[in-house]
Amino acid sequence: MSPSDRSRAEAPQAPSTGGVNPPGNVWQASVLSLFPEMFPGPLGLSLAGRALRDGKWAIEATDIRSFATDRHRTVDDTPAGGGAGMVMRPDVLDTAIAGVMPEGDARPLIYLTPRGRLLDQAMVRGLAEGPGCVLLCGRYEGIDQRVIEARGMVEVSIGDYVLSGGETAALVLLDACVRLLPGVMGAADSATEESHGGEGLLEYPHYTRPAEWQGRAIPEVLLSGHHADIARWRRAESERITKERRPDLWARHEAKQRGAGGMDGHPAAA
Ligand code: SAM
Repeated sequence: MSPSDRSRAEAPQAPSTGGVNPPGNVWQASVLSLFPEMFPGPLGLSLAGRALRDGKWAIEATDIRSFATDRHRTVDDTPAGGGAGMVMRPDVLDTAIAGVMPEGDARPLIYLTPRGRLLDQAMVRGLAEGPGCVLLCGRYEGIDQRVIEARGMVEVSIGDYVLSGGETAALVLLDACVRLLPGVMGAADSATEESHGGEGLLEYPHYTRPAEWQGRAIPEVLLSGHHADIARWRRAESERITKERRPDLWARHEAKQRGAGGMDGHPAAA
């Protein structure tokens, strides 16, 4: 029985969308939102959509408003201390969380917020290895601080900009996680060599046919069939691009290399 199956049995019923709940130990995403119809959205297509249909992961999106208790189904109120906008109420949110997270649910409860820790590939890998996640999407000015603390939420941002709601951030986080789940990507799409992989480098440039296009040729080495030369070229390009575009990543990569004893064990150094 998946965590969401259990929660439905024990908690108030809530309308869900995208509820594909295959039996077994699938990676389970629960999303709390005022717009549950936004899920699975684009994740119902392509790689993630196929994996969803194949039961490699599951998602249920729950309408926070269905946990409101007054006749107007109110989920927000004016900010204490004054100011613009509205704040989502802690009592409604807490009941909604209890509705999708049964006692002992091991999944992290994540509040998407521009104040959170920046999402990166290491966090994505950690989440993909776990049982799934519960995502709380804010609206308006955000949510009452007390429910963040009471529920020990992990606050995660997808970038230094402000979205109108957490739903698109949740879709980004889920997309990044789902593609790493076992059996979702084919061997051809392997995540081992791509940007933000284990080495912390950005990826080298890609080319395909035609060999010449608008007077631009594919770098000769890539057509040489010499695998070691190709690997060396790709490595050098990865390093050049990372150094040029992301000095922060390059500095981290160099520090890691120094910690690991320099270039020993380095594939291109062999
Ligand atoms: N008043 C908030 C602030 O200044 O930090 C912004 C609220 S924003 C208009 C509404 C909701 O969008 C937030 O509660 C959050 O769930 C979501 N959101 C906005 N930007 C985000 C980001 N960069 N990463 C993750 N979630 C974000």
